[in-house]
Amino acid sequence: MNMAEMDKLAAAGLRGEVRLREPMARHTSWRAGGSAERALLPADLDDLALTLRVLAPHEPVLVVGLGSNLLVRDGGLRGTVILTHWALRELRRGSATADGTDLYAQAGVPSPRVARFAAMNDLKGAEFLAGIPGTVGGALAMNAGCYGGETWDIVASVETIYRSGTIRSRTRDDYEIAYRHVRLKDERGRMNLEVHENLHPSSFILASSTPLRGPHPSEEWFVSATFRLPGGSGAESRVRITELLRRRIATQPLERPNAGSVFRNPPGDYAARLIEACGLKGKAIGGARISVKHANFIVNEGGARAADIEALIVLAEQSVREQFGVVLEREVLIVGERDEGAGMKAEGQP
Ligand SMILES: Cc1cc2nc3c(=O)[nH]c(=O)nc-3n(C[C@H](O)[C@H](O)[C@H](O)COP(=O)(O)OP(=O)(O)OC[C@H]3O[C@@H](n4cnc5c(N)ncnc54)[C@H](O)[C@@H]3O)c2cc1C
Repeated sequence: MNMAEMDKLAAAGLRGEVRLREPMARHTSWRAGGSAERALLPADLDDLALTLRVLAPHEPVLVVGLGSNLLVRDGGLRGTVILTHWALRELRRGSATADGTDLYAQAGVPSPRVARFAAMNDLKGAEFLAGIPGTVGGALAMNAGCYGGETWDIVASVETIYRSGTIRSRTRDDYEIAYRHVRLKDERGRMNLEVHENLHPSSFILASSTPLRGPHPSEEWFVSATFRLPGGSGAESRVRITELLRRRIATQPLERPNAGSVFRNPPGDYAARLIEACGLKGKAIGGARISVKHANFIVNEGGARAADIEALIVLAEQSVREQFGVVLEREVLIVGERDEGAGMKAEGQP
């Protein structure tokens, strides 16, 4: 986006904010990494639609919730990051149906808020969301889950927004859904090509070892979910939430910045067990360390660079592959460009 495009946004009536060279360490739970060329903080859903309509068709867009599953490399991100957490904050009780009561949550609502709101309304089944420190949008994109619950188990429908700013409603049947995996069925490619003549590949560098999942980096993003939950006892849900959070505090290194589990668990095993068996628990590179408390977590001990975190990720992958023949799949998404200058400096200077 250049100055002319920013003027165009202002002239079109953008009520939100545009920030240039926005440090993504402010918007990711690892508190590390480079800057986004531009960050857009729309005021609400209408503002988001307007923004998408005005952005140049070749502008790379990354939608970010609370950045709790994201590593932005030190060289930063080209294009525009849209921060939904600032915009899409509506959460309300909907109507009762034969299979439960609906809760409407926009994509920027933190998942733990949905858990508490459901309990307040005597609805059960959303308690697991209390321990997932991202947004509803991120939970939909990742099919986030824990302790037996998964986001899409409780979704009745979602609304999405296209690059053109148009909103549409979708159901679970439109998606292929599995463990930490959500992808639009075949219709996606056809539909996007029909809707967006100027479809382009994202210029974000995706470093995941796994195939792309979720709507990212497609041209369609989640803007809301309607959860359908059976009636229950708010008091019982609150007890369950407290228990879940207690278990997390006991087993996860929550006192240091992290992004939750770095790898998906391979079938029939645990990534943490394999990493620990390679002797990597406590291994540090720069300011990052494989947690002593939970080997599938990497913590920022202060001043970690994204490169330190990524080096530990690669080390864990290589070690587990060499020792056990298991290919670990990344759960976290790595985007952006390496800071080649820093690498050269490190090599050339003592
Ligand atoms: C301490 C800790 C514990 C965690 N525990 C769990 C756990 O138990 N289970 C679990 O599943 N995860 C866990 N996580 C990981 C993370 O919280 C979840 O994956 C969460 O759902 C990500 O949400 P987010 O808003 O932070 O997404 P982000 O990190 O901002 O984005 C993640 C991905 O989702 C995409 N995305 C975000 N919003 C949208 C949108 N509106 N539309 C389309 N795509 C979007 C992004 O582009 C990106 O690809 C944990 C993380 C931490 C830090």
